[in-house]
Amino acid sequence: MKEDSFETLAVHAGEDREAHFGALSVPIYPASVFAFTDPDEGIAIHNDEMPGYYYGRLGNPTQTALEQAMAEIEGGEAALALASGMAAISAAAFSLLKSGDHVVAPESMYSTTTNFLRYIGGQFGIKISFVDAANAEAYAAAIRPNTRMFWVESPSNPLVRITDIAEVSSIGRAAGIATVVDNTFATPYNQRPLSLGADLVIHSATKYLGGHSDLTAGIIVGRTELVEAARKGPAKFYGGNIAPQVAWLVLRGIKTLALRMERHNENAMRLAEYLSELAAVKAVHYPGLADHPGHETAARQMRGFGGMLAADVRTADAAKSLVGKLRVCTFATSLGGVETLIQPVALMTHSTLTPEERSQAGVSEGLLRVSVGIENIDDICKDIYRALMEDRT
Ligand SMILES: *Cc1c(COP(=O)(O)O)cnc(C)c1O
Repeated sequence: MKEDSFETLAVHAGEDREAHFGALSVPIYPASVFAFTDPDEGIAIHNDEMPGYYYGRLGNPTQTALEQAMAEIEGGEAALALASGMAAISAAAFSLLKSGDHVVAPESMYSTTTNFLRYIGGQFGIKISFVDAANAEAYAAAIRPNTRMFWVESPSNPLVRITDIAEVSSIGRAAGIATVVDNTFATPYNQRPLSLGADLVIHSATKYLGGHSDLTAGIIVGRTELVEAARKGPAKFYGGNIAPQVAWLVLRGIKTLALRMERHNENAMRLAEYLSELAAVKAVHYPGLADHPGHETAARQMRGFGGMLAADVRTADAAKSLVGKLRVCTFATSLGGVETLIQPVALMTHSTLTPEERSQAGVSEGLLRVSVGIENIDDICKDIYRALMEDRT
């Protein structure tokens, strides 16, 4: 299947009709226990000397189908599915790191990842350097003898900043440092970090992969050796396994990923251009705009610019007022679903940071994050315009 186009791959990835009586939809295996049919085989499966299933926390055929699908669409050797994006992030980090190690990570990214790295810094003596990830050289400059992991998130939350993945990965490779890319915002439709040299990709499948705001899940994809280390270490010991029902939902989401991303890309581009023309909007951050500082890198490493953008409506009050007046778009956190979601960033995901930290992360007080959905783009634009202009004279 490797030679197929992404659209075809996404529809058929993870299929194994022979194993499932020809079923077009992979069955859901809710079993938490699998019996052994032969003494020698049973012992071999249990002792990891033979592939097979025996206990729910360690996998089932539905989870395997999702893992195969993700490995295929990200172009990786192996994948591991977990209960959430954070379960994937923590499993990746804990399989690569031990106390005394050092990590280089973006100063602006998904805030729970920032807080997770701070947490393991405090609890386990792991040192973190937060750098300007738009500058690949900043990763090189931050390397210490004990650096073990480069963290990359591109496009990043919430400012959709772009990191040159090939450049950072090659700096990492030369220094024996693993590069891990959070590919949640881009999805493999728009960007395949492993083909750019990254060692591991992680996803919050809660977002675009699921695509319908109805599940939480996470994925790790990459070289077999690294993925299996995460499976046999943190995934097994911390027990963040994905439920088979959820694995099935993610598989279903992946079938329409190409279609949805095509529309997300198109709608976000149109909305970014529209908002750029409005006087009430001070700045629009979208990698598809020629004035975005990461535009050229994004054009090189991405097929489309994604469905996420940020817009600065000048004040926290204006941002708060706008989200209270939406009719088509929805005031909600999270992203990646079919519906357009808007949130005032400084008042919410970044409210736990101090004003100095916010400003360091580039989050202005009037910043709105928009997850542009697949609704009619004119309806989205009109709704935001009306919400922005109501009460203004
Ligand atoms: C949502 C998100 C996460 C965390 O994923 P959960 O599924 O909520 O645990 C990590 N990274 C990014 C970029 C995200 O958007």
